[in-house]
Amino acid sequence: MFDKILIANRGEIACRVIRTARKMGIRTVAVYSDADRDALHVTMADEAIHIGAAPSRDSYLQFDKVINAALKTGAQAIHPGYGFLSENSAFCQACQDNGITFIGPPIGAIEAMGSKSAAKTIMETAGVPLVPGYHGSDQNPELLRQASDDMGYPVLLKATAGGGGKGMRQVHSAAEFDEALAAAKRESMNAFGDDTMLVEKYLTQPRHVEIQVFCDQHNNAVYLFERDCSVQRRHQKVIEEAPAPGMTPALRESMGQAAIQAALAIDYEGAGTVEFLLDSDGSFYFMEMNTRLQVEHPVTEMISGQDLVEWQLRVADGEPLPLEQGQLTINGHAFEARIYAEDPDNDFLPVTGTLSFVQTPETSAHVRVDTGVRQGDEVSVFYDPMIAKLIVWDEDRDKALGRLTRALSEYRISGTTTNIDFLYNLASCQPFREADLDTGFIEKHHGAIFHDSVRDIENDLPLAVLYLLLRQNQKAGTEYSSAGNRDERDSTSPWNFNNAWRSVEDNIHTLGIVLHESEYQLEVEQKLFGTVTRYRINHNGHTVTAQGVLEGRFLRAELDGYQFNATVAEHDDSFSLYTADSALTFKLAKPDLGDADEQDTAGGLIAPMNGTMVALLVEAGASVAKDDPLLVMEAMKMEHTIRAPADGHVVSFFYQAGELVDGGAQLLEFGASE
Ligand code: ADP
Repeated sequence: MFDKILIANRGEIACRVIRTARKMGIRTVAVYSDADRDALHVTMADEAIHIGAAPSRDSYLQFDKVINAALKTGAQAIHPGYGFLSENSAFCQACQDNGITFIGPPIGAIEAMGSKSAAKTIMETAGVPLVPGYHGSDQNPELLRQASDDMGYPVLLKATAGGGGKGMRQVHSAAEFDEALAAAKRESMNAFGDDTMLVEKYLTQPRHVEIQVFCDQHNNAVYLFERDCSVQRRHQKVIEEAPAPGMTPALRESMGQAAIQAALAIDYEGAGTVEFLLDSDGSFYFMEMNTRLQVEHPVTEMISGQDLVEWQLRVADGEPLPLEQGQLTINGHAFEARIYAEDPDNDFLPVTGTLSFVQTPETSAHVRVDTGVRQGDEVSVFYDPMIAKLIVWDEDRDKALGRLTRALSEYRISGTTTNIDFLYNLASCQPFREADLDTGFIEKHHGAIFHDSVRDIENDLPLAVLYLLLRQNQKAGTEYSSAGNRDERDSTSPWNFNNAWRSVEDNIHTLGIVLHESEYQLEVEQKLFGTVTRYRINHNGHTVTAQGVLEGRFLRAELDGYQFNATVAEHDDSFSLYTADSALTFKLAKPDLGDADEQDTAGGLIAPMNGTMVALLVEAGASVAKDDPLLVMEAMKMEHTIRAPADGHVVSFFYQAGELVDGGAQLLEFGASE
């Protein structure tokens, strides 16, 4: 076995590989960019080598630097993780040229599956069923359009070099075709340096079911069952589970055999995943094969009891597969939820920020957290915005789902917007409990998932006010007298409401507080009972009697005789309160400054995220109709189109293609028609 390996990756997957290597007594070398000097994967590894600037093309994708790091540290093998260099055959070749083992499949297998269209051709020959479509080399737009017209809409355009949903566009009608093709090609060129497209019939309600395969250098091949990854946003997975609900032994066997056939057709070695679309009638179609470890491999580990990274290391070292097909069994049920820095209320666009507070659920045999970040770390624009993976296991689906919702409610992150509440709502909605899964799940059950407006805020608001009051009492007379207090001059900071509180007199005050962008006015009366201060907090005629104890981040609250715990996280101008069933962020209402400095943000003419201007689609001065595309922005290699809010014309654009744009910046001036 290897003595030392290098992990050519970052974040949770680098940490994940290091854990297994350490368990097996293998020393580890990390690599890092400027942005990751203090990252968790760097501190976990035995050694770490700096390989360049923050953008991945200057560091994690520089394979000469990665190879040199391995040579310098004497690492005998390189684990590429997923993403970055993991499916790069030239890198694989460079490893071989330098006498370093690439922990993954042979060059030929990566090349065979590197192009979605070439892969489809190979699978067609091997007799694996395909989604109907066109995957030829003639890229004439007319031909692509004709193929789509013949197939009938909807169709799906896919970048043959694609991955991560980039360069992929659904086209609902012939009228949309040209714009969609241009956008998909642009996104693909930008992300992969290649804009070759294929077209597929868009299946309307399929499930995404994939098979984990493993092959060794001795012609052995097994499948470690399936994962259902149907719950997706932007065609990317958010919750995965194993086994797939409703899977029959016969279907599992035939999908498993088809996957093995796919792997054998390309002389595969190591861990691979064959992705299929499964139709409601039980037919399944090959979509693509990922020639690496998948993000969602932990659910397979949980139900099979195997460590797939250990299998990878053993196979790469020339050992036979640890188990034969007949020795593999499914035990129980597992879920994985991907926790992202993204805004579900803003089309799941990625967000950045510093993780000012992170509290993970307690881990056990039932709950696993794979993460690459810790409190204080930053989610930057440079890399994937995934913060962590939460994985749970139990004897059956219902019990495992109970574990998932509980663990999600205990997962607390502040400092950046995350999808945790969204995941919680999704995992607890009835259709998900009933496993009514298909790839359109989120759109189909939008109402059931995005329902936080029905929450009863009449208890949330007094809790927030109680916290502010207790905190104020704690601070009184200490920090406020000290000069240079960081936010003493900021009248909008919640830590500075200086409206003459007197702790012993009866006193009624009004406090404005903002929750979910709505402002609420609460009246507070405070009374002293012996040594205990009680507050009567009134909102719209609904009065709650509150008292509590605040110790550090820990708040023990009593509202109308009901006691419970909350955890508090403070930010610059807001604070979050976490209770067993909620995570809410509050601000103090800003003083009313009138309308003078209000910006016109109507119509989404504001940059929705930090990013780059990709293209202006109309000329300044041009007349446009409502919803016409005006410009395209890109962040983290995903495009976002800004459309006309109404009929009218563009007066001027404020950014040119190629320029960096801050989230929230005004992008253009728009004149609506009368
Ligand atoms: P990527 O490699 O960019 O992630 P995939 O080819 O794996 O793209 O597809 C991602 C997702 O897109 C699938 O899981 C599925 O939900 C959806 N999808 C792909 N092809 C089709 C299709 N022909 N019909 C319907 N949905 C599809």
